Amino acid sequence: MTSSTPITSFEQLAIGQPILQALREIGYEAPSPIQAESIPHLLEGRDLLGQAQTGTGKTAAFAIPILARIDLSRRVPQALVLAPTRELAIQVAEAFQTYARHLHGFHILPVYGGQGMGSQLRQLARGVHVIVGTPGRVMDHLRRGTLSLGNLTTLVLDEADEMLRMGFIEDVEWILEQTPPTRQIALFSATMPTGIRKIADRHLKNAAEVKIKAKTATVEAISQRYWLVSGVQKLEALTRILDTEDFDAMIIFVRTKTETVELAEKLEARGYEAAALNGDMSQALREKVIDRLKKNALDIVVATDVAARGLDVERITHVVNYDIPYDSEAYIHRIGRTGRAGRKGKAILFVAPRERRMLRAIEQTTRQAIEQMRLPTLQDIADRRIQQLKAQLVQTMDDEDVSFYRDLVEKLVNEGIGDAADIAAALAYLMHRERPLEAPEEPEPPALEHVRERPRERTRPESGLRRYTIDVGREHGVQPKDIVGAIANETGLSSRLIGQIKLFDAYSTVELPADLPDDFFKLLKKTWVKNQRLNLQLLDNGGRKPHKKPVKPDASKFGKPKAATPNKRSAQRRSTEDQL
Ligand code: AMP
Repeated sequence: MTSSTPITSFEQLAIGQPILQALREIGYEAPSPIQAESIPHLLEGRDLLGQAQTGTGKTAAFAIPILARIDLSRRVPQALVLAPTRELAIQVAEAFQTYARHLHGFHILPVYGGQGMGSQLRQLARGVHVIVGTPGRVMDHLRRGTLSLGNLTTLVLDEADEMLRMGFIEDVEWILEQTPPTRQIALFSATMPTGIRKIADRHLKNAAEVKIKAKTATVEAISQRYWLVSGVQKLEALTRILDTEDFDAMIIFVRTKTETVELAEKLEARGYEAAALNGDMSQALREKVIDRLKKNALDIVVATDVAARGLDVERITHVVNYDIPYDSEAYIHRIGRTGRAGRKGKAILFVAPRERRMLRAIEQTTRQAIEQMRLPTLQDIADRRIQQLKAQLVQTMDDEDVSFYRDLVEKLVNEGIGDAADIAAALAYLMHRERPLEAPEEPEPPALEHVRERPRERTRPESGLRRYTIDVGREHGVQPKDIVGAIANETGLSSRLIGQIKLFDAYSTVELPADLPDDFFKLLKKTWVKNQRLNLQLLDNGGRKPHKKPVKPDASKFGKPKAATPNKRSAQRRSTEDQL
């Protein structure tokens, strides 16, 4: 494959069946722009300078070609990814595991400070193919001689500008010098400050440069708003929007084919006329969906970028970006599905806090501010339904002959069962029995009941939950039920409040309520599972203690911790617990 051929599908890339199979299962429909442009160069073994930010699919852009070129029979580090934070290192390792699910015997090791050295040393001694680490800890291992990079073929610097900003750049350069001169380097950075340019000039040879370019576009006919994802689940937010926006037809964009189907099904189950549109469907089936949309038989289509390309249906008044697009171009393309034929259109974008950079990039490209929107409250929805009822009543009184029912009501009043208002109230009640008009109470805290509805490949915690690491993993023979059991037993926390659990070789991650009281946290640090001390640590603030001052446990939700002291199963305590 030459790098000049435009890449529109993963099948065009020489990445082998096992990876293609994994990508099909995850539901990636087509390579994102950074992937389409970077993967061919990386497969050829060229150095690469990539300017792309989080959310563009850059992790897969380097992980896929590394996996495609790895020699599984040699258990030596062949690729090293340097990342600025422990959170990113873990996320990158998770992404590798996902794409490598059919590469049997593949081993990756995340190394970062704040994690016991012991298990890292054991795994390094056993042999791994890829290492993802923060510069400090990687340097430690190199100095101790517990890691050798003599067989390295690829070095990735991920979020290089962040590493520069965090003062790691000298460490990065030192590590770079410990690698064989023949290795390929892929440098990814959201911005290109001089410090990064200098590194690129000094160490990259004949590098291909890939930049996710931004085009200016005119999108004046479309009013654009964004909702910063917080408090309630995205699905709940979407249904509130559906219940309050005046829309004729709507396109909702998601990232994967699987998600188009899942979301369409959830909306159908909630009574909306929705269908999926994705590249897995036959041309005939896709045309049928579009036809139904045109003929009002369908109001909502949940689509991927590829499937919605060129879609031209006049009645689309709204575009919802349920998942943020990879780049500004995709955004412009998506929202261009509305505002057709000189009409006005509306675009709504869901932005997770960590995606705010992408929001700014989109605003710069379109040269238009995207206005922040307030999510409709349950009261807003109730008010709107009452307005709709009023309008329906007026219209019925104007347009329909209701004399039979009028006589009936008068007869009932004369019989003395109640006055006209009582009877109207009872009828309105019956009409709304399924879904009462009264506003229910706003869920507070965020609806944790939805936790179990999450998609399989989610890499970020559900809102209302935070991700923690625990020092017990597959190599200790642990299963998710052991972890749920131990947490529930030790703390009395309902298993309903425990989110996703992911097992890795030496450790696992678990999602727990963001407002976990301090004494629960302390207790779980000391809890033992499979002879390992859990040593619970918050994943997204560098492993430091999450609560500065003790948080008062919310008795209604958490109850009292069951055990005041951890049970004393015999096991060795870890001694080396150095921080980055
Ligand atoms: P990243 O920029 O690497 O942080 O990736 C952002 C998100 O995009 C991750 O959740 C990936 O799973 C997802 N993603 C990456 N590549 C693709 C693709 N080709 N199709 C759909 N989703 C993707």
